[in-house]
Formats: sequence, structure tokens, C-alpha cells
Amino acid sequence: MNAADDKTIVREYFNSTGFDRWRRIYGDGEVNKVQLDIRNGHQQTVDTVIGWLKADNNLAELSICDAGCGVGSLSIPLATEGAKVYASDISEKMVTEAKERGVQALGNSENPTFAVQDLESLSGNYHTVICLDVLIHYPQEKADEMISHLCSLAQSRIILSFAPKTCFLTLLKKIGSFFPGPSKATRAYLHREADVKAILERNGFTIQRTAMTKTRFYFSRLLEATRQSAE
Ligand code: SAM
Repeated sequence: MNAADDKTIVREYFNSTGFDRWRRIYGDGEVNKVQLDIRNGHQQTVDTVIGWLKADNNLAELSICDAGCGVGSLSIPLATEGAKVYASDISEKMVTEAKERGVQALGNSENPTFAVQDLESLSGNYHTVICLDVLIHYPQEKADEMISHLCSLAQSRIILSFAPKTCFLTLLKKIGSFFPGPSKATRAYLHREADVKAILERNGFTIQRTAMTKTRFYFSRLLEATRQSAE
């Protein structure tokens, strides 16, 4: 399967069965045990990122690009904290849901802005570019291109999460219990941390903070990398 096929499949998935599944996981209604585990794991990843940004005490001064924003799980709290957030996602359905959640949380605010756009076609410049739990849908070669493009949009900082290619997860993936839902409809790709770090470094970034979220069914390695701001 080539990368273009991966992208088409991912877009269609998140506009159909994937939308229904992930909207529920990223919500607060009743879900099954596996989905609840993934919901809690994902929330930990979101909370870690928010914690990092809040600790710097300058959120209200930041412009943030949330690439592959889903239903706004990160964008909405960041906007609530005062950051200027430009959120986008390849799936129209996810973006429509994100907009509704944004209105519920913040009223008819212009912040965050939500757009239907694949991250490869994003342009502009943001203090911080964030891309959570998106790379899992793409093979390493494509992920490298995506990361390089995201780096080109980031003035100072990039924050990425991915499912790390460890012996344990490779085994789980083989026996089919890793990300059990989506892996049936879309492929789940694991990435070697060394490869992700190498592409960030090649783009002039230096790793700063790292974290790992690990629950029964959710595994996400989080990296923050910065470069000397051009400002
Ligand atoms: N980042 C969000 C979060 O953590 O709450 C959503 C994560 S969800 C597992 C993956 C999201 O990535 C989906 O909403 C999907 O539509 C989006 N996505 C996948 N490929 C994309 C691409 N090439 N460009 C933009 N969004 C993409």
C-alpha cells in the first residue's frame, strides 16, 4: 500500500466508522472497557502537553497549530487557557464535531479556528506546532515527510506523539490486541523513537521534554523539541 492510499483510507475512516468510534472515545458518554482505557490514556497525553505549556507561563502569548486536531480535545482547553489556536484535521466530520464542542465550551468564539485540511497542505508560521496521535496512521517514510513539513511551520517548538516501536508493542500488534478497534479498519504503524528524533534533529530541533503514556490499550510517546526562535 502506498502513502497516498494510507491517507485516503484514513480520511474515509475518520469520516465514517472511525468518526463514530473516536467521537465517543474522546467524549464523556458510556463506552466499553477498551474504549474507556484508550480514553483515559489519551487524556493523560493531552494533560501532559497542557501541563508542559502551562508550566512555561506564557500560553496567552502563543500561536499554536494543532495539526490533526480530531474533535478538539487539545485545542479547546488550550484556547480556554488563552493561547491562539489554529486547529485543522483531514476529516470534515471530526472538524464539525470539534466546532460544536468549541461553541459549547467557549461560546461563538473565533478561537480556536477549525479548518478541514490535511497537515501536508498547512502553511504559515506558529510559535508551537502540535501533532498528537496522528503519525500512527502512517508508515515511517511518510511520517518523516509529515514531521519535516510540521517543522517548517514551527518558529520555536514542535510537540509530537507516536506509538513507539518497542519489542512489546511489536508483539502486541502481531497478536492483534494493540489499538484493537482502529487497527481493524486502518493500519496502525509503530515508529522507532530514534527515527523520529533523527528527523527532528535534521530539521534543526533539539529534544527537550519527553513523556510516555502507557495504559492497557493505549501507548503514546510524547516528544517536545525546540529550536532557536528566528524572532
Ligand atoms: N490529535 C487529536 C487528539 O489527540 O485528540 C486526534 C487524534 S485521532 C487518533 C487522529 C486524527 O488525525 C483524526 O482526527 C484524523 O482525521 C487526523 N488525521 C489523519 N491523517 C491526517 C492528515 N494527513 N492530516 C490531518 N489530519 C489527519
